[in-house]
Amino acid sequence: MTEIHRGGCHCGNIRVAYLTAKPVAEWPIRACQCSFCRKHGVRATGDPEGRLEIAIADEAKVDRYRFGLRITDFLICRACGVYVSALVEEPGGLLATLIVNTLDLPQDGFPDPAPAHYDDETEEQRFARRRLRWTPAVMVPPPALA
Ligand SMILES: [Zn+2]
Repeated sequence: MTEIHRGGCHCGNIRVAYLTAKPVAEWPIRACQCSFCRKHGVRATGDPEGRLEIAIADEAKVDRYRFGLRITDFLICRACGVYVSALVEEPGGLLATLIVNTLDLPQDGFPDPAPAHYDDETEEQRFARRRLRWTPAVMVPPPALA
């Protein structure tokens, strides 16, 4: 059964709703070891069968940071500094990885994170992996996730 898990940045400017049928204890949890994610202590998850809804109250207070291959938007709230999600644009729509640290649910129920190394990927390999692991995402109006 699909459950809705809510979360977002600290100040509430970026809100997310993660819809997945997978129980929390079975979520894949990846600790990306790239130079950005390591500095944030990132634990990320995704479900290609799920859906991530993202609502931004004030776009001017959101940084869409890019580095490396520059194909990914790292959504960071400028007001409170929290890194919430990374997004890529695909022909079929947005794909997202969700930082589970930002979810409102208890943080001790996740599986242990598996260190992940993607630095050597080409752009093609990166898209291919994300299609298999990331979550289809949509931007929604802020009141929807208030
Ligand atoms: Zn914030």
